[in-house]
Amino acid sequence: MKITPMLRQYLEIKEQHQDAILFYRMGDFYEMFFADAVAASKILGITLTSRSSKEAENKIPMCGIPFHAAANYLGKLVKAGHRVAICEQVEDPKQTKGIVRREVVRIVSPGVTTDEQILDAKTNCFVCALVFPRKSKGSSPVGLSFLDASTGNFLVSEVPVRGDDHTALLDMISRINPAEILLSEEHYRQQQPLVADLKGLQEQLCFTLRPEEQFQQASARITLLEHFQTVNLDGFGCAALSSGIRAAGGLLAYIEETQKAALGHVRKLTPINQEGHLVIDESSRRNLELTETLIGGRREGSLLSVLDHTITPMGARLLRQRLLFPLQEQQRIEQRLDGVEELVNDPGGREQLRRLLEEVHDLERLCSRLVLGQGNARDMWAMKVSLAQLPAIRQALEQWRCPLLRAIHSQLDELTDLHQLIGEAIREDAPITLREGRLIREGFHQELDRLIHLLRNDRQLILNLEAKERERTKIAKLKVGYNKVFGYFFEVSRAQSAQIPEDFIRKQTLVNAERFITPELKELEHSIATAQDKRLELEYALFSEIRERIAAQSSRILDTAQQIARIDVLACLAELACQYRYCKPRLNSRAEIRISEGRHPVIERTMESGRFVPNDVRLDQDSCQLMIITGPNMAGKSTVLRQTALIVLLTHIGSFVPATEADICTVDRIFTRVGAMDDLRRGQSTFMVEMNETANILNNATSHSLVILDEIGRGTSTYDGLAIAWAVAEELVTKDQTGIKTMFATHYHELTELAASQERVLNASIAVREWNETIIFLHKLIPEATNRSYGIQVAALAGVPEHVTRRAYEILAQVEQGDFHHHPSIAREKRGANPGPEQPCQLSLFPTGKHPVIGLLEATDPDELTPRQAQEILYEAQRLLRAGDS
Ligand code: ADP
Ligand code: MG
Repeated sequence: MKITPMLRQYLEIKEQHQDAILFYRMGDFYEMFFADAVAASKILGITLTSRSSKEAENKIPMCGIPFHAAANYLGKLVKAGHRVAICEQVEDPKQTKGIVRREVVRIVSPGVTTDEQILDAKTNCFVCALVFPRKSKGSSPVGLSFLDASTGNFLVSEVPVRGDDHTALLDMISRINPAEILLSEEHYRQQQPLVADLKGLQEQLCFTLRPEEQFQQASARITLLEHFQTVNLDGFGCAALSSGIRAAGGLLAYIEETQKAALGHVRKLTPINQEGHLVIDESSRRNLELTETLIGGRREGSLLSVLDHTITPMGARLLRQRLLFPLQEQQRIEQRLDGVEELVNDPGGREQLRRLLEEVHDLERLCSRLVLGQGNARDMWAMKVSLAQLPAIRQALEQWRCPLLRAIHSQLDELTDLHQLIGEAIREDAPITLREGRLIREGFHQELDRLIHLLRNDRQLILNLEAKERERTKIAKLKVGYNKVFGYFFEVSRAQSAQIPEDFIRKQTLVNAERFITPELKELEHSIATAQDKRLELEYALFSEIRERIAAQSSRILDTAQQIARIDVLACLAELACQYRYCKPRLNSRAEIRISEGRHPVIERTMESGRFVPNDVRLDQDSCQLMIITGPNMAGKSTVLRQTALIVLLTHIGSFVPATEADICTVDRIFTRVGAMDDLRRGQSTFMVEMNETANILNNATSHSLVILDEIGRGTSTYDGLAIAWAVAEELVTKDQTGIKTMFATHYHELTELAASQERVLNASIAVREWNETIIFLHKLIPEATNRSYGIQVAALAGVPEHVTRRAYEILAQVEQGDFHHHPSIAREKRGANPGPEQPCQLSLFPTGKHPVIGLLEATDPDELTPRQAQEILYEAQRLLRAGDS
């Protein structure tokens, strides 16, 4: 095919951006060609056409979108995981001959966007960069860094790796939940298992491969030092993070490249201090449904959705971060709690404060757009409206005395200078576009005022001149006219043309009249004719200058945004506490958890007020260090477990808690494990996941941890499950002499026997009242064991047909008499489970290496058997033999 100059230009630019869809600006449209057009037309649902140029033998597929509607289309492409390179005309087509120069001015990718249409106001949008150590340098950590270009948040961290186990890394990444991940091509290839796991967590995650050089120590350091204009990175507290710095430098280089702008709003690199935080690993976060529900991944129904009473987007994002990075240090937690308390105690002041916050827009993102040269006049006006609230907010803060609120008060910059600047310069009714004028207020700039005056009064100015010339020439009938050939002219009748002064230049003679021009008239005409263009140009220039002046103050704006976020979160937690009757928890260092009338913050919200049954929970290092909770299905075991974990967690973010009283010790980690929940997203077998997680607890829990185990062992056969549950429970009571605070819900009633030998074990159950054939759930935790499962009653409540449950009662009766199976204790154990088809053989209950038949014999006490049972055991032994053979 023959290549036109335009096509050549397109191909050259496309060559540089092969991994992106290229938006090629042509007049009022962005056009896409070739494969880009095919892909985009599908996602956007727009028509695919083809360019039927005379020279082109093969038709080129293309599609286009109007530039003024680009944001919407762009959003769709990016949400579908694509990168988009936006290529603009960088010359005025009117003033160029031949082809207009074009350049890619911006690249938008899932992680790098400042578009409101793509971003979720309540969540940060991070890109993450990863740098892996060389295999030879076995023990050095993985470096990782996160940057949210829409707010300027820049984080760095390192995570040690042990062999091929990347749990800790996955954990950190999923906590921050980036939209895009950068790594070098080589690492991408080497880390396929990790990549697969990350994709499992978030399907749309976009991986961007970058040149290895950008992650090299020297170049990464230089990128950072140049950006921050410092001589070293000590001031940020990250000098020691060598692979972290490689990740951060590579990341910054990438963002600079995609934004094609200086990133003035990225002001510091913050190390993520893992030690200072309460660690909640990835699966615990999911199990506890902190930010999204386990099923469906919805925000609604998560803890965050119940907590979030914030008003500003900055506040919403901070609350989320606090939830994912709870504190560990008692003093800091108490400071936050005192702040919340003060606001709880002053409903009037809080109300007033929250009303002021309602007028504050997303300062962080507004600021970023201005810094990146993308903000328009409406952004500027939104900034002004927000800044207008600051003095009143600051004044409202004055009345409160606790250290945290005092600190926010003293750090809040009112930014009156910026408020004033925008107020004086920018028109409230300015349009979205920057090239149509009407951006700058009158009175701000002399020359602009002159132009506006000229445009507004063009007719009058001409008429004034007409009057003046009439006066001078004394020709009463002299009048101004206009035509396309000469523009403005003076016209007098032929009779009067003799009176015309010297400086009039004759242009045209008609039958009855003559037409003249004067230099003054032509000058005025020229001024009027060019005024519009000049005005647009000047307004744009003035606007850009103001935008730069504001951008230069971005660090002050971002500091203020941070203070607003802090106060918003405190006020939100106070609001929450008042609305839902939460209490202020006390903190202790006695390793004790004591909750009076605790409730589950999310489940209680789904019920009518007063319907949720509150429960007392106590865990300590003496008599109830491991609580074993039994009770039928649906009694409320999982609920009481989770609510305890959530109350402890809420305390650590500095929130009041759903209880009437709570005394909580600081904990270093919360582990929760839920058995029998198929982890479909990761495609691993249930049991494997369950055991992985259990191993993780046993390896990492300390005497300061809180462990929640919900029916672990369910993923395998009954005996294995019981054996594992028992051994795990035993280990948790005895680990490191002191043991680990644990709540263990189980359907293995045998576990309650552990309390006989271990004094720190407490048996508890959830009370149920029997009533006729059925049962009533009381949802009340009581300190005694139960040995009944009420499985058949629950089945009946669930709607299993009556003849089936009646039959189940018959079978149960047989089992209880030992008729059903070969071994009395097995029969008792089975009572809870559905006595369905044959159980799989329980091979691994016995020590490995031994034949199962030997195990069976060892587990049998012949003196206890009836002849009939002995015969049963022989049959079973034969069955096991055959099973082993096949
Ligand atoms: P289990 O784990 O024992 O099977 P769940 O904790 O899943 O039971 O609770 C089952 C249901 O019972 C919950 O969905 C909730 O509707 C209700 N429930 C649980 N605890 C309470 C409570 N304390 N007060 C009121 N309803 C409760
Ligand atoms: Mg449960």
